[in-house]
Amino acid sequence: SSSSGLPAEDASSKSNADVFWAPFTSRDHHAHGASEAYSFASAAGNYYTTATKPHRQILDGVAGLWCCNAGHGRERITKAVTEQMRTLDYAPSFNMSHPIAYEWARRLVDLAPDNYKHAFFAGSGSEAVESALKIALAYHRANGQSQRRILVGRERAYHGTNFGGMSVGGMTNNRKQFEGSLLPNVAHMRFPYKPSMRFSRGMPDGFDDDADDFVNDLRHIASVHGAENIAAVIVEPIMGSGGLFVPPKGYLGKLKSACEEVGCLLIFDEVITAFGRTGRAFASDSPDFVRPGVESDKGGMADLVCLAKGLTNAVIPAGAVLAQAHVHDALQTGYEKMASDENLVANAPRAFHYSGMMPGLFHGYTYSGHPVAAAAGLATLDEYEAENLFSHAAQMAPLLEDAVHTLVDVPGGKECLADVRNYGCAAALELAPLRNKSTGAPMFGAAGRAFFQFAFEEGLFVRNGGQGGDHIVMSPPLSITPEDISFLHDALARSLSRMS
Ligand code: PLP
Repeated sequence: SSSSGLPAEDASSKSNADVFWAPFTSRDHHAHGASEAYSFASAAGNYYTTATKPHRQILDGVAGLWCCNAGHGRERITKAVTEQMRTLDYAPSFNMSHPIAYEWARRLVDLAPDNYKHAFFAGSGSEAVESALKIALAYHRANGQSQRRILVGRERAYHGTNFGGMSVGGMTNNRKQFEGSLLPNVAHMRFPYKPSMRFSRGMPDGFDDDADDFVNDLRHIASVHGAENIAAVIVEPIMGSGGLFVPPKGYLGKLKSACEEVGCLLIFDEVITAFGRTGRAFASDSPDFVRPGVESDKGGMADLVCLAKGLTNAVIPAGAVLAQAHVHDALQTGYEKMASDENLVANAPRAFHYSGMMPGLFHGYTYSGHPVAAAAGLATLDEYEAENLFSHAAQMAPLLEDAVHTLVDVPGGKECLADVRNYGCAAALELAPLRNKSTGAPMFGAAGRAFFQFAFEEGLFVRNGGQGGDHIVMSPPLSITPEDISFLHDALARSLSRMS
């Protein structure tokens, strides 16, 4: 046997694709040579080029993984990253600093709705979520309410794959492999969607009673566990990885009111909705996502907002949490109070407590505010602005909406489509599950996988997944053109006809 413990012949016969342990990927994917077939070698603009010959151009219908919002190969970003690596490749942010991280925080806060005054940096969306959840818990403790420990998520939600995000998340497969090891003190609300909302164009409208009903889940949780024990509610303004579920009009505003009643924080996970996906900088910016007539909501309704992906156009991994001043300040003054607590002072080295260096938040990462991520982030914001990408996305949204909703009328459309959903520069097809020919039992995920392959052959990259695996989600670069959208429509139509 080899030094790895594997029989030598096995070790040497493993293909590189098998040695690479791919995230959320089945072994079958490699076993059938799919890893070679589905491999990208380069990218420019809105298109990928496949690694294998003949090299094909594939329209990036997903912006990578909802992250390359400005498309690929943006020279301004590449240049900024390269120069930053030469100037200051890395410096820590723990008790130290570098000017570019300050500038990045300032620019983000300036772009964000008015209520967001502070930016905390992390290395990914999952880390942004963990940071926001921990900040919420620390906030209540600093306010003398350490009993507020229950975190509320939703069915079908995706908040990354670290322990906190997985626990408040609600995609069954992501949780059940770890059942028994999820965070305690977590409760879930239903996801706010029902069959009568299917085929809505944009945000489902006219479902006021349903929105009330879904939001009552929080009051129900409060009645079971005690409102005084609830720390925070975390939601994606639009559910992405779960299959692109747009909440009914009014739902998020009603949820905010319920959070106020309960006295807990509201966290928006805007990892995919921020940076232009909705046609605005943030979902929190849009009148569709706040309470009509409530002035303070216009400045941002959530207490904390999680960001990643489009934050750096994905060229350098990064995440961030935006915080309202009351959250940030409570933590700072809370610990100052602790530092002046006589018992604490008596039992700890005096110099530490009197030095003014007591952290407000005992949390952070080596890569928090990484200078190269900051350079990428700043150049990305410049690129969005220079190219007017958010308003371009808003202009493309109705074209994308038409492109997907008219698929019901193409051959195969009626039989194959269980639902079509869209909002801003994002859309999803929900496929009816394929059925076992002899038993009639649904084979969840098979239709999604087949459709993905057909679309790829037709020159379009989509994402198959969501609960059950039969949702086809699209979130193209904001730079998508009308020609790209008509190509996308045709590729989807051809794929649908091949399904039937
Ligand atoms: N939150 C949401 C809403 C996401 O969609 C994702 C990723 O898809 C994450 C968090 C996790 O981000 P990351 O994969 O960068 O950890």
